[in-house]
Amino acid sequence: MDDLVILNIGELITLSSEFLDKRGINPCTTGESSQGINSLATGENVSSLPPQDSSIGMTGKKQGKVRAGKEMRELGIIKGASIGIKDGKISYIGEPRKAKKEIDAKGKVVMPGFVDPHTHLVFAGSRVDEFELRILGKSYKEIAESGGGIANTVKNTRNASEEELFQQAMRKLDYALLQGTTTIEIKSGYGLSSKDEIKMLRVIESLNKKHPISVVPTFLGAHSVLPETNKEKYIEKLLGMMGEASKFAKFCDVFCEQGVFTKEESRKILECGLNFGLRPKIHADELTSSGGSELAGEIGAISAEHLVYPSNKGIELMKKAGVVAVLLPGACLFLAHKSPVKKFMDAGVPIAIGSDFNPGSSPVLSMPIIIGLACILLGFTPAEAITATTINAAYALGIEDKVGSLEIGKDADILILNINSHKEIPYWFGFNPVEKVIKKGEVI
Ligand SMILES: [Zn+2]
Repeated sequence: MDDLVILNIGELITLSSEFLDKRGINPCTTGESSQGINSLATGENVSSLPPQDSSIGMTGKKQGKVRAGKEMRELGIIKGASIGIKDGKISYIGEPRKAKKEIDAKGKVVMPGFVDPHTHLVFAGSRVDEFELRILGKSYKEIAESGGGIANTVKNTRNASEEELFQQAMRKLDYALLQGTTTIEIKSGYGLSSKDEIKMLRVIESLNKKHPISVVPTFLGAHSVLPETNKEKYIEKLLGMMGEASKFAKFCDVFCEQGVFTKEESRKILECGLNFGLRPKIHADELTSSGGSELAGEIGAISAEHLVYPSNKGIELMKKAGVVAVLLPGACLFLAHKSPVKKFMDAGVPIAIGSDFNPGSSPVLSMPIIIGLACILLGFTPAEAITATTINAAYALGIEDKVGSLEIGKDADILILNINSHKEIPYWFGFNPVEKVIKKGEVI
């Protein structure tokens, strides 16, 4: 018997590629005979219960396919279905079966938990004074040059004990969970010395052990160069930290930007990371076109992130190498710039969306709000933004076989939303639609 069944689901957003495959990718030729098709105009595949089979997604094909371009509008929605959970995994989707516990989700939206693929969640203090300075007209760069910005947070983070950092981060994760985040990436990068970077990575490791949210660790020792530091010497130090960092982290990230790390310096750091088994990620072309997107393609990074000023060549190289574009609407709002979403869509580069939660340029941790910003500010459709914060975000973290879509055998990371349509997530801007969070089969 299953442990839990969620019944009568109004809109079950599976994001299952297999489900879509069964019905064909073109929505105009999809499920014409089934009831409940009401979203053809937006290209979303909507169907009633699967006709003969009581469960779908059992053909053993590779799960969790990343989506690009128009495919990002296909959510694999089923109306009126049930989803079963056993031993923390999804056991079936279709007609309800008996289970130890039932949840009635009549008329509600049920979807995979959000995967936030880019955050700097471990830090001490805040930068609320700089927030005011920026409103008064100072630029991010000017503030950084006068000792504020990242350097300010580095000072606070170095002064905080491991326990203090851990407790502050736990509270932030509690908030993220209430807003539907079930997996989150966290970068180091406010230590900027061997001792303090490893301290941050240890905190990130403890968070993963102690908090229900799954935490994916990234080493970002190359986040900044402090004004008093000699860059060449710091790069040598960074290369020396890599062995120890690789015991904790899964990815190595670098801030490739004018005035921070050049394209060639970034390459050197990321190649060293690769030698220690750390897959590359890049903060690319955020403030100026600095070669980051090109490097991402050349080096075969798993993702390039921010991407406000990517070159056409960079986009082309990213497409060729299968690099995911991780866009960050929170930072776009706070820094008053915009990523060229259409260019990535047209080029067929898969897009993920993250919060970029950090004390300087994006103090926003709620994924429903981030989805709202993605739609209002950057022109994503609600379905595209949902794809970008679930399956594509999982892909940007290399865990698409475990989370990011509702498919048999995957982790039962599931949200029940108190709304009738997924389109309401961005529409009721600032409202938290999350009614229940289920993490690995446990109702939290
Ligand atoms: Zn960042």
